[in-house]
Amino acid sequence: MERYVDVILPLAIPRFLTYGLPDGMEVQVGSRVIVPLGVRKFYTAITYKVHDLKPTGYAVKPVSEVLDAQPILLPGQLDFWLWLADYYLCTPGDVYKAALPAGLKLESEMVVRLNEDFVAEKPLTGNEEKVFNALEHDKCQSINKLQSASGVRSILPAVKSLLEKEALCVNEEMMVGYKPKVEVFVKLGEGLTDEHAVHEALESLSRALRQKQLLLKFLELSNYPDGEAKPVSKRQLLESASVTHAVFNGLTEKSILQTYEVETGRLDDGDEAAPASPLNPLNPPQQVAMDQILHSFSEKNVCLLHGVTSSGKTEIYIHLIDKALREGKQVLYLLPEIALTTQITRRLKRVFGRRLGIYHSKCPDNERVEIWKKQLSDQPYDVILGVRSSVFLPFRRLGLVIVDEEHENTYKQQDPAPRYHARSASIVLANMQGAKILLGTATPSIESWYNATVLHKYGLVELKERFMEMQMPEIMPVDIHELRHKKLMKGSFSPILLQHIREALEHKEQVILFQNRRGYAPMIECHNCGWVPKCENCDVTLTYHKAINQLVCHYCGYSITPPQVCPACEEPDIRSRGVGTERLEDEIKALFPEAVVDRLDLDVARTRSAYERIISDFEAGRTHILIGTQMISKGLDFGNVSVVGILNADQMLSYPDFRAYERAFQLMAQVAGRAGRKNKRGLVVLQTYNIKHPVIAQLHDNNYQGMVDMQLAERQLFRYPPYYRLVNVYLKHRNMHLLDLMAQDMATQLRLAFGKRVLGPDRPPVSRVQKLFIRKIILKLEPNISLSRVRERLQHIQAQMLANDRFKSLTVYYDVDPM
Ligand code: ADP
Ligand code: ZN
Ligand code: ZN
Repeated sequence: MERYVDVILPLAIPRFLTYGLPDGMEVQVGSRVIVPLGVRKFYTAITYKVHDLKPTGYAVKPVSEVLDAQPILLPGQLDFWLWLADYYLCTPGDVYKAALPAGLKLESEMVVRLNEDFVAEKPLTGNEEKVFNALEHDKCQSINKLQSASGVRSILPAVKSLLEKEALCVNEEMMVGYKPKVEVFVKLGEGLTDEHAVHEALESLSRALRQKQLLLKFLELSNYPDGEAKPVSKRQLLESASVTHAVFNGLTEKSILQTYEVETGRLDDGDEAAPASPLNPLNPPQQVAMDQILHSFSEKNVCLLHGVTSSGKTEIYIHLIDKALREGKQVLYLLPEIALTTQITRRLKRVFGRRLGIYHSKCPDNERVEIWKKQLSDQPYDVILGVRSSVFLPFRRLGLVIVDEEHENTYKQQDPAPRYHARSASIVLANMQGAKILLGTATPSIESWYNATVLHKYGLVELKERFMEMQMPEIMPVDIHELRHKKLMKGSFSPILLQHIREALEHKEQVILFQNRRGYAPMIECHNCGWVPKCENCDVTLTYHKAINQLVCHYCGYSITPPQVCPACEEPDIRSRGVGTERLEDEIKALFPEAVVDRLDLDVARTRSAYERIISDFEAGRTHILIGTQMISKGLDFGNVSVVGILNADQMLSYPDFRAYERAFQLMAQVAGRAGRKNKRGLVVLQTYNIKHPVIAQLHDNNYQGMVDMQLAERQLFRYPPYYRLVNVYLKHRNMHLLDLMAQDMATQLRLAFGKRVLGPDRPPVSRVQKLFIRKIILKLEPNISLSRVRERLQHIQAQMLANDRFKSLTVYYDVDPM
């Protein structure tokens, strides 16, 4: 009898492909197989089904190899993948790509590199030897190229076993993967002794954009030109600039950069072996909350824990985890990427020791592969603390999922597909596996609040007191419109904020200043004619970064030196407008020259280590004033902050999105929550031009309920979530006129199917990114509408569109429940 396998390929193709299974080859569902596709290409595919139904209409190709004797996916994981693909309107291949660490999905375009420290414990097999030798010649190659260079016909098994022996690594991880005893650092070339020389070097790279970007990144990381230079390791530089070694080598060959070595020893090996400590006892309100959560779990699968900042939610999580472990269950603890800090890791490690595994996107790929394999083994981690993508890990006995900071919009993956929300995905995962879900936050998302209080789908537990009777901070709104009018503002600061900063510093207390824009100035413009520089590739204005004297696009990284005279009217009257974190840092340093000031935003904290350094300096009191974007609002717990300044509430409120007020409230309440000390009430100075804005009053009164009620009324009126479900249809193309034509056409067809539920096409706020124009069509669907029918119609319409020769090159994708 002939047998066939249906497989999932790591490609955006609609569903499964079928291959023949040669005689004598055995494969299980969930195992990886290698299959050919097209001319001389091969992929690692996942077995979905083994059957004996011969496909018709084409010549079936055979499976080349079976990679796994035992499946690498547990039963149920494939169902979860397919649910995601269906719900989020993407392909199973999209999910596959997101789910598996790179080291588990070899494909021909993948680049591997030699581990030069590799010492073979056992002799290599013939094929391994050939591959290894070919790589020694050219240390970084695509598997495809390696196949011809080594002459090994079916190369993937050899690559796989060499990867397992750590003789090679996947290039994505570059040097991050292993911890060298000697670390390579980077400095400017000998000739680049002054700023003039550096600028000349930058100019000379105007035709080598990637090299220029890399150099800019280096200058930024090394704190050039002001302040003391920070040492920059090559590893850190390549990681944060995400460029190849070739680009780096280009700069060293031109003597613009040079390297030097520093003995480091093995870095942060951690205190793995530290013995587990006992749990902190819960205080009475925490104990009541814990009991209520357990009671709620006896009736419902999901429970929302609404606890004010510093009420001790994390302590409750720890007790719940402990309980689940004692029942022999596993726990998944989800955090938004940026909130996964050493603070929380330390707290959990202290109690759970070696039973805790940590899975985040900055983990080197080989570590992610290791965690994956450990979870398949019979001694998996019992607790996984991880980010969004850890919902894809295999779990054998999942009992509890905790989604901390559940309101965070970074739980939603924006690009590429699958554009999934980790909160929704983990609820589905937990339901499939019979586990309970706890959503925790001080500022619930309106969706979760609605599910808990209106639909009663979720349980609700509230914790209204801070731990140790610490008071909630006092919020003091300040009308800067009037102050500006009376010329009383000092730069970005109101006199009252300055006075409180001064007092805090005098009392040796710390200050946090929040400004949700990075860079020096959000834009520069010509004072004479109003000219503003825009990105060549995107529909956005360029942001001025003073330290590197560049105008930078925050969407694609394009950068230019600011012109001295206006290119439009030739007047030399170019000024900057608006305030970013970098400028704020300048202002505050001038006002308080004796204070130690630091800044936390995407520009200075590209790497995990830089981020951790800034936080631990502040934690230890080495920094007095910390300026930051929303990065400072996430899951941090500082003991000595008495003043928080929110420099400008209005940017957040004026963002063109139906969630703007909700987000602004959440963000400002979270930032405000950083204020407060054991025996002193914290103060939050909230500067705004719109003192009468309802959200300002709601923040002042700590009135979450008021904010939600107002928002729910509005959302119902205007047919937004949670009353309606949104699906955004995006169309992208290089040619604007063609795109508009196609978008009109698609909208017309959608209207035939969905009538008034269709809005658009419109230009999204940023309607061109990286040279592609973008149009958006919105579907507003009633909550009871059948999603599978909607999906069928959408797929049908899309297929029809793309069948038209003129529209073939159109990119269409969907964003379900957009954030
Ligand atoms: P949340 O997660 O609600 O913001 P945390 O769990 O971080 O609050 O608690 C705030 C602070 O209070 C932390 O420093 C934590 O260690 C401390 N804390 C809270 N509950 C307890 C407890 N039961 N025993 C000891 N310390 C606690
Ligand atoms: Zn001008
Ligand atoms: Zn751009």
